[in-house]
Amino acid sequence: MKNRFTLGISLVLLACLAFVGLAQKKEEAGASKIVKVLIIDGQNNHNWKQTTPVLQEIYGSNDRFSVEVSTSPDNKATKEAWDKWRPDFSKYDVVVSNYNGQMWPGEVRTAFVDFVKNGGGFVVVHAADNAFSMWPEYNEMIGLGGWGGRNEKSGPYVYYKGDKLVVDDADGRGGNHGPQHEFVITNRADDHPVTKGMAAKWLHTKDELYDMLRGPAKNMKVLATAPSDKTNRDEPMLMALDYGKGRVFHTTLGHADYSMQCRGFFDTLLRGTEWAATKEVTVDWSKDFPSEDKAVPVKAAK
Ligand code: ZN
Repeated sequence: MKNRFTLGISLVLLACLAFVGLAQKKEEAGASKIVKVLIIDGQNNHNWKQTTPVLQEIYGSNDRFSVEVSTSPDNKATKEAWDKWRPDFSKYDVVVSNYNGQMWPGEVRTAFVDFVKNGGGFVVVHAADNAFSMWPEYNEMIGLGGWGGRNEKSGPYVYYKGDKLVVDDADGRGGNHGPQHEFVITNRADDHPVTKGMAAKWLHTKDELYDMLRGPAKNMKVLATAPSDKTNRDEPMLMALDYGKGRVFHTTLGHADYSMQCRGFFDTLLRGTEWAATKEVTVDWSKDFPSEDKAVPVKAAK
């Protein structure tokens, strides 16, 4: 009797464990699970008050994502204000930086590095790759950066010359750009989840074309490039990186609201963000995706 009772309990327990296991698996695989995005802004030499709403609009345009914003204190803020700014990264799947300003407090830096190292996603947009030239972990995450005193000590230049990927240790500054213009983006990684199926070439709306970025460039794959007439190289525009158990999507695009209001920017940001958050991409390419000779501006919702 006792044995039969024990057996009964064991069977029930086993069934429970199997059920929990199945539920967990579903949660992990969860194509329908909402990707929770946290945008960080608050300081930038760019107009973040105009661009963050566009980023919010982009994530809001797709049911796959939810989005919240954490705005840091400004550059005149007191220590007390900074002591209160403690974004809880662990509540999100992916952090998107629209921030280029003062160094974050040590506690925030540590929490952020732990978040990505342990499997969190990170997306760096345009001037956010100018930030934190003296923060080694950040530079490893973004792969390449510009300005802030970056030079040959920061790491190599990485670019395409024709069909060849070049890693170049030449001396020189990190970060440069010419006047804003529309330019053609070339897909360099049709085998990567983010750029799989992307048009081989497409015309991006008016933006700044960053060139001469340099950095550690470890565990980094260049996904897309654009030709710079400043360097006569094809400069990296989209990149994917691994950092610990986490992933980073780096887009150098997005100087202003009108640079983000581009169908190509929308689609690549959504796919890159989903990949950084989940390793997989389910967001489809839009039917009105730009072609090589036709940019597709996306009108603001308001
Ligand atoms: Zn810019």
